Amino acid sequence: LMSFDEFIRHWADERGDRLAMREEDRFFTYAELEERTARVATALLAKGLKKGDRIAWIGKNSDIYFTLFYGAARAGIVMVPVGWRLAPPEWAYIINDTKAKILFLGKGFEAAPSSMEGLLPHVEQVITDPEARAMVDATTRAPFEAAVPDDAVLQLYTSGTTGNPKGAVLSNRNLFALRKHSSQTDLAYTKWDDDEVVLVAMPCAHIGGTGLGVMSVAAGLPAYILAEFTPDGFFDSVETGGVTRLFIVPAALHILLQHPRCATVDFTRLKYILYGAAPIPLELLRQCIQMFKCGFIQNYGMTETTGTICMLPPEDHDPNGNPRMRSAGKPLPGVEIKVVDAEGNEASTGEVGEIWTRSSNNMIGYWNLEEATEKTMTRDGWVKTGDAGYMDEDGYLYIHDRVKDLIISGGENVYPAEVESAIYGHPDVLEVAVIGVPDPKWGEAVKAVCAPKPGATIDPESVISWARERIAPFKVPKSIDIIDALPRNPSGKILRKDLRAPYWEGYE
Ligand code: AMP
Ligand code: MG
Ligand code: MG
Repeated sequence: LMSFDEFIRHWADERGDRLAMREEDRFFTYAELEERTARVATALLAKGLKKGDRIAWIGKNSDIYFTLFYGAARAGIVMVPVGWRLAPPEWAYIINDTKAKILFLGKGFEAAPSSMEGLLPHVEQVITDPEARAMVDATTRAPFEAAVPDDAVLQLYTSGTTGNPKGAVLSNRNLFALRKHSSQTDLAYTKWDDDEVVLVAMPCAHIGGTGLGVMSVAAGLPAYILAEFTPDGFFDSVETGGVTRLFIVPAALHILLQHPRCATVDFTRLKYILYGAAPIPLELLRQCIQMFKCGFIQNYGMTETTGTICMLPPEDHDPNGNPRMRSAGKPLPGVEIKVVDAEGNEASTGEVGEIWTRSSNNMIGYWNLEEATEKTMTRDGWVKTGDAGYMDEDGYLYIHDRVKDLIISGGENVYPAEVESAIYGHPDVLEVAVIGVPDPKWGEAVKAVCAPKPGATIDPESVISWARERIAPFKVPKSIDIIDALPRNPSGKILRKDLRAPYWEGYE
């Protein structure tokens, strides 16, 4: 089995009366999911969409999002979830890049189109949450041609060191290659039990959100869907929702530990917490192991690799000084990982270089960006991650630093270039460099270092509100430093390392 169409039909036959997904008081069995996704495929094809066309979604996680995604995927129509935290100009850029003719809106985002007035020349139809549900209810299914494993089904936008966000195109095969059928050797070096429930807690525009829904379909188990991550939503999902596995980012773990309910909730049903997407402080990991008393699995990967390619298994999570707790773990079965030095040769054990990876998890490519695709993926299929690391003699990968200037704040990626170009237009700013500084809650916080134009003075508040109008709140600098001139090397390149150094003193 290697596609949504195959998996959904399989589970509808095998365990049709078992729960497939739940959000709040809406419950759907695998038989219902099969019927409803067939209707979505029928309805979208009836609207004139064809295999390879894109549809866009702005909204939080919901059962209707996953129903639309899986239904479209069964017919080879590509879902593009757009990050709801982004600013309207950012939404518009992504939607136009996909050329989607249909835009679906989740609950609470009905006003999104008016905030993009005149910016969406390709969108012909906007469908709200109740309209999408009515569409499913009113459609009579018709036979359709099912997508095959190598057909694209999901397009996730990811930012880069330069320029606009890029759409990573993922196929059925990319999504299911490592998310195996529950009877096979499984994703996390662990066994699935029959009574497990998977939590979708991270935003659907990220692989760590949508990917968990896919995992539940692969395993034929229920997905418990949280519209967005909140401590209460999380605690309820474990206490009364029967959740046994989940993926969350380190910043979310930090928020949970600070919450008073954390000490009173019964976590005994919880089997595994998968965490990753950003480095985790060792002390936070130790506290989590003590608090949740379940298995912990670190995940390392990126959007371009359909998420996880490397895992630190539960048995290496020994809080009593196991040095492997600092590792991102071992490549999953079927995944090649190598470390490459500056000359392009494979680095020796313990030597730091760029991490490259090859597997059927690697994306098809970036949407309509041949050059960017070639820069990231070699001709023989290796993705260059932009992360620096080394491999120890036992094959464990250690992430050392980032080759790219990426800032990860609360699990959301922020590239300095995006923030800098938003600030550059400010009337008092001559030049600006954006860096990540340590932050106890978010891991890293965004800081802008600005130099004023001759004769001008910079008001930090005005720079912040300038940025707020142009980019998503999580990208807006939390603080502004003002200096006379940015440090540059002889060829004029900003010395970001020098700017960062004073803030990171005492951190490793
Ligand atoms: P994204 O573009 O959101 O998929 O982010 C991918 C990047 O997140 C990777 O290239 C890493 O820089 C970072 N990342 C992902 N997982 C981990 C991890 N377990 N530890 C440290 N950094 C990580
Ligand atoms: Mg990225
Ligand atoms: Mg990320």
